[in-house]
Amino acid sequence: MSTKKRYERPIITKYQSGLMNKFGSGPSAKAKTSIDEVAVSKLVEEYGSPLFVMSERQLRNNQQNAIRIFRTRYPKVQFAWSYKTNYLNAVCSVFHQEGSLAEVVSEFEYDKAKLLGIKGSNIIFNGPDKSRAALQKAIKDNAKIHIDHFDELYEIIDLCNSENLKANVAIRVNMDVGVYPLWDRFGFNYENGEAWQAIKRIMSEKSLKLTGLHTHIGTYMMTAEAYRIAASKLASLANSIKREFDIKLDYIDMGGGFASNNTLIGQYLPAEQIIPSMEQYADAISSGMFEMNATGSDLPALILETGRALVDNAGYLITTVLANKRLSTGRRAIIIDAGVNILFTSFWYKHKISPAQESGVHVEDSSLYGPLCMNIDLIRESILLPAVKKGEHLVIEDVGAYAMTQWMQFITMRPNVVMIMQDGTVELIRKSEALNYILDRELLPKQLKLK
Ligand SMILES: *Cc1c(COP(=O)(O)O)cnc(C)c1O
Repeated sequence: MSTKKRYERPIITKYQSGLMNKFGSGPSAKAKTSIDEVAVSKLVEEYGSPLFVMSERQLRNNQQNAIRIFRTRYPKVQFAWSYKTNYLNAVCSVFHQEGSLAEVVSEFEYDKAKLLGIKGSNIIFNGPDKSRAALQKAIKDNAKIHIDHFDELYEIIDLCNSENLKANVAIRVNMDVGVYPLWDRFGFNYENGEAWQAIKRIMSEKSLKLTGLHTHIGTYMMTAEAYRIAASKLASLANSIKREFDIKLDYIDMGGGFASNNTLIGQYLPAEQIIPSMEQYADAISSGMFEMNATGSDLPALILETGRALVDNAGYLITTVLANKRLSTGRRAIIIDAGVNILFTSFWYKHKISPAQESGVHVEDSSLYGPLCMNIDLIRESILLPAVKKGEHLVIEDVGAYAMTQWMQFITMRPNVVMIMQDGTVELIRKSEALNYILDRELLPKQLKLK
């Protein structure tokens, strides 16, 4: 690459209010020319655009760091990978190699974990939708079944009685943790006594073993205090169980929901300035956990089902500029080849987006549109970017969570996903879809065939 500075055509920019805030006009976009030392241009050349890129090194760092932070605060810690956050086999396998259990919320995810080699007893089966067949399989596998509602509890009792099975169960508990609106649609309520009632019903059944208590208080939680309240309410339930039934629980599962570094749309300050650190979440949870009347080996294990906070910053989306244009207001619009169908998270996040090549220093407030012929296809309403030409690339950061599970085939198909391995090699971990992928599922009735 030449070191000569690139010529920039002089531009006259219409002044638009609302860009400056009390911290100034925001940093000009620095180029992100490589990911884990692999050049973005090389990745696009080999795997096309758009392209999702996962970093094995970042995944492992995130998991190891989180384990260290929690283990220094609480003696028995176990992570469980939340499949729905990113269930690509390569991603799940990294977490499993780092010692995580599988946390699944559907039969399809359950089967996916088993195909990866995870034993049933290392699978946590969550969610409101577990069919009788799925429950039967999970019971026989000795999975950790987290019951969501009474109908599910009765189904499990019926299955165990009619087939002479024994099940390991926990209940999901919802509660007031001071964050509103309340997340009370999943599990049994703490305050109104429903959770206690479910526990008593389980205790009266010989075929059921109550192994733990579970909660997942919400997602992208911006206060660590909510976790202290949740842990302390579960500790109090565990104390009652010990007192009334003389039962020691194997674990308390505090779910996930820790915020990642993405800034929410409408949020004034960047995420890294306002979200709690992993240390603050861990402090809050362990302080609530220690309200349990147990010590040493009698303490239950602490399970964490952290999703987005472990995977978001390990994912990138490389995209190519298709065109630049001026809207009727004179505002600059950039059209890129990645649409909201593959980046669902742009509906709620202001992702960090950088040019992938050295560009000029002058930034202009721009709207970033995807390639779909649909008005909703807006990746970002307003972002300061330098001039980028057709064919040049942008890198969208922190897209490791939910994008690759909530994406859909709509007008365009899902692109390649690669993983940059720790040794610097690049592996294709999901192949892009093509027309035959669509046609393979379709059936055309005979009488509709064109002659
Ligand atoms: C979605 C989910 C998680 C992970 O949530 P994050 O916000 O990604 O951390 C964990 N547990 C359960 C039960 C979930 O539904």
